[in-house]
Amino acid sequence: MNLVVLLGAPGSGKGTQAKLLEQKLPVLQISTGDLLREAIKQASPVGLKAKQFVEKGELVPDQIMIELIESKLKQAPPSHKILLDGFPRTLPQAKALDANKKTQVGLVLYFHVPSSILVERITGRRTCADCSSIYHVDFNPPKKSGQCDRCGGKLTQRKDDVAEVVLRRLEVFEKENKVLVDYYTSKNLLKEIDANQSLANVQSQLLKVLDTWCT
Ligand code: AMP
Repeated sequence: MNLVVLLGAPGSGKGTQAKLLEQKLPVLQISTGDLLREAIKQASPVGLKAKQFVEKGELVPDQIMIELIESKLKQAPPSHKILLDGFPRTLPQAKALDANKKTQVGLVLYFHVPSSILVERITGRRTCADCSSIYHVDFNPPKKSGQCDRCGGKLTQRKDDVAEVVLRRLEVFEKENKVLVDYYTSKNLLKEIDANQSLANVQSQLLKVLDTWCT
């Protein structure tokens, strides 16, 4: 099974873009953040363990994340390429992915955005409580305020998208990301995407790269 890893800070647009790409290409997106939010909502054993970390903007321990992603990948149709949004976040997670004989990371797309604009992007973000579609109050507003264009669900602000938690999430990202960028650069897999552009422009950069990769 072929994997594309999406790297980038919270608010760099990887989740929004991955969900759009799923509608255009034979790819399946898996977002570990979405999986955790669903597990927390259901109060499942993983959700109960992860809640305290997610709400503070800290990383959930590697062991929990590795088990979660492995069980999700087992359920995915082998014919599909997978876009991984939010995993790996640490070097042990990246190494666990490489150790899995059934999967192979073929490409890593690094969404680059200057850190000065990330806080505004994240605090204005609204997420559909039902289908996890992502909007922004200014940059990508829904047609009807507070309502998802796709499924009519209610748009809410994630608990970890408030300013205090966002600053911690960005700190955590800065700390872990360089190691991952170096790791995938050394494997010659990393491609940088200029994500400080309009949604449509970033989408067309991604389609160009992935079109060839998907065929
Ligand atoms: P995201 O939706 O990708 O921004 O993730 C939201 C939160 O879920 C993060 O701030 C972490 O607390 C947790 N999380 C998601 N993916 C991972 C991961 N691969 N490793 C550790 N924690 C994660």
